[in-house]
Amino acid sequence: MRYLKPEYFDRFQCTADKCPDTCCAGWQIMIDEDSLERYDREISRKRSSTDEADFVSGRLLNGIDWEEGSFLQFHKRCSMLNEQNLCDLVIYKGEEWLCETCTRYPRHVEEFEGLREWSLSLSCPVAADIILNWQGKVNFLETEDEKEDPLAEEFEDFDFLLFTQLEDARAVLFSIVQNKRIPMNCRMALVLEMARQVQLCVDEERLFDIEQVISQFAALETDLATEAEIKGLQQEYKLPEGEARFRGLKESFGVLEQLERLREDWSEVLQQTKAILYSADYKDYEEIYEAFCKECLGEDKQRVQWENYQQQLLIFFLYTYFCGAVYDDCIFSKAALAVFSVAFLQEFVMCSWFLADKYIDKQECVRLAYRYAREVEHSDENLNLLEEWLLEQMQP
Ligand code: SF4
Repeated sequence: MRYLKPEYFDRFQCTADKCPDTCCAGWQIMIDEDSLERYDREISRKRSSTDEADFVSGRLLNGIDWEEGSFLQFHKRCSMLNEQNLCDLVIYKGEEWLCETCTRYPRHVEEFEGLREWSLSLSCPVAADIILNWQGKVNFLETEDEKEDPLAEEFEDFDFLLFTQLEDARAVLFSIVQNKRIPMNCRMALVLEMARQVQLCVDEERLFDIEQVISQFAALETDLATEAEIKGLQQEYKLPEGEARFRGLKESFGVLEQLERLREDWSEVLQQTKAILYSADYKDYEEIYEAFCKECLGEDKQRVQWENYQQQLLIFFLYTYFCGAVYDDCIFSKAALAVFSVAFLQEFVMCSWFLADKYIDKQECVRLAYRYAREVEHSDENLNLLEEWLLEQMQP
């Protein structure tokens, strides 16, 4: 079994009650079968009247939706969460009593035949801070274990050929995204175009042509010797600019508004963004956008380092989702999700900067990133809706 993780993975440490938010509110926490049985046995066993026994026969018994197999929520907060944002299950019973979901979070796993990929979830403030503020390239550490992994899943009809091609394509996407010689707008356009071409190969059942697409884009990136070549690449691969960019974002914003809300305070972010950026015409938007670019974007702008954030976010989304296309053949939408997320996070950051009297700091960027991830990544309904919509947008 092979295991892969980003090099920053082991830096994560939960800050518990010092966390600026909590991961125990706003979403349903499913309990694995073993933990559910263990809680059930403990409830039947406890009879004495100690605080711990009271907790077990009271809070634990009544804090679980036994049919659904999840912790109940009160005012959108997990039933085990106390007023200090600490978990009473840990306090009364110890960390080893946490269910699998809580033990693992924010570590996220993607399972493939013979490979387990670990990542940190962007929805945790501490993880988001690590991800965004990683400087430069991210290396992915691979280990291999000859022993059979008891937790390894069995896959029927796993498409090894496609998976290997997706891994190769992702490696090229990583190189493109991390090539600082190429302007960010061009890197994102290249990501979309390469994913679009791989998608076409799959749709038209030309799997062997994927190799050619991979080599072609790998060469595009590595063969750049002169500034003129970079300019040429930039001319050929670019995302819409000016008014076309504004119109596209304004229209795409509609899909974000349609998503299920996990936290009510996310509605405020959407409402503010709509009011400030998209309610008036292009001229008003342009004024804000140009001032924001001048003040906050670019390598030399130390205050926000937005370009590094964009790079790290693209890598995060591509690493976490791209190879999952082996299960649904939706390659383009996985890459488009990365570009879409970076584009809108910039819009949210820009709006926040505007509202804060043209001031933005790193913490606000991190805050917006983890709040966005909570809404988009932690709802299958939202992820599916977004992916379907993105796939429809696949334009030549
Ligand atoms: S969100 Fe992250 S840092 Fe905060 S309590 Fe959860 S795991 Fe810990």
